[in-house]
Amino acid sequence: MIAFVDLKAQYLGIKSEIDAAVSGVLESTQFVLGKEVAAFEEEFAAYSGARLGVAVNSGTSALHLALLAAGVGPGDEVITVPFTFVATTAAICYTGARPVFVDIDPKSLTIDTGRIEGAITDRTKAIMPVHLYGQPADMDQVLEIARRHNLAVIEDAAQAHGAEYKGRRVGSMGDLSCFSFYPGKNLGAYGEGGMVVTNDPERARAIRMLRDWGQERKYHHVLKGYNFRMDGIQGAILRVKLRYLEEWTEARRAHARQYERLLADSNLQTPAEMPYARHVYHVYAVRTEERETLQRKLNESGIQTGIHYPIPVHLQEAYSDLGYGRGDFPCSERVADEVLSLPMYAELREADIETVARRMSDITGGNRTS
Ligand SMILES: *Cc1c(COP(=O)(O)O)cnc(C)c1O
Repeated sequence: MIAFVDLKAQYLGIKSEIDAAVSGVLESTQFVLGKEVAAFEEEFAAYSGARLGVAVNSGTSALHLALLAAGVGPGDEVITVPFTFVATTAAICYTGARPVFVDIDPKSLTIDTGRIEGAITDRTKAIMPVHLYGQPADMDQVLEIARRHNLAVIEDAAQAHGAEYKGRRVGSMGDLSCFSFYPGKNLGAYGEGGMVVTNDPERARAIRMLRDWGQERKYHHVLKGYNFRMDGIQGAILRVKLRYLEEWTEARRAHARQYERLLADSNLQTPAEMPYARHVYHVYAVRTEERETLQRKLNESGIQTGIHYPIPVHLQEAYSDLGYGRGDFPCSERVADEVLSLPMYAELREADIETVARRMSDITGGNRTS
């Protein structure tokens, strides 16, 4: 069997360090926030090229609080994409603002920057590009449009730890950037976790208060806050894992190159790494019109795959009140019908990738020479 992800293999590789880190927190009894979380905030912000980091209990909370810190609230609009994980849209709705969708670019699968200005109204407060699958959105365009219209830019970098745009790290470009440390993400906790990084001390201070009941000091509630704090154990684990992230990212990139090479002659469309990008391949998704058959046959051969995501958010029942319908975002809809995510994690072996690629070529009748 070739698994889609294998969290156990990664744990076994670093078991003694992780176990020691967890024991340290148990001994210290700093179960919520504490010095491990504070150290992780500094280290991860530095890794992402930002001055400040505020750790929270999930990527969704990071998005929610980043929006609040940017002043987004009821009556406002936030521009984002419908082809993303539902959390991007949900976080906008939590603030009382309205998500306004813009279609994706068929090559990068990130926001089609040529369509952003057409979606801006008097109520637009922010743009939230999603660095989908680990590929950065075209940030120069996004930032330039935002500057011209005086909008905040909040990066949804939940899938893109360490990704780069023209040599700049994801997290260093927007006003605020949000990461998830859900276990399956490129940097994953052993539970839930997230972080907002920013260069803006005022906004960082607001988020620090909002994650902890809006307190400036104990029992002095300046803002209407939340319980969105990170666990001490997660902070300690993430500090250990951050030291391996570059190595793991390079392994993912090597796997992507191997897939690309082995599937070059197939009739599958392999993912593009944009010329501006360092793609970190959180997801390695090929495209094919025969997606269902391919997935079924791979599964029969013991090869697990995933679909990220089968239904764009504008067609989800929960968000039907936004008033969108089929045909509104044709590129998102088409891509949602065609993507198939292949096994991808640092510990994946070259032989496994060969097996997957060979089986895919057999199924699709690929490896044709013309
Ligand atoms: C995972 C993810 C989130 C949410 O992160 P959680 O930690 O699961 O709350 C948000 N946006 C995108 C694009 C994601 O992939």
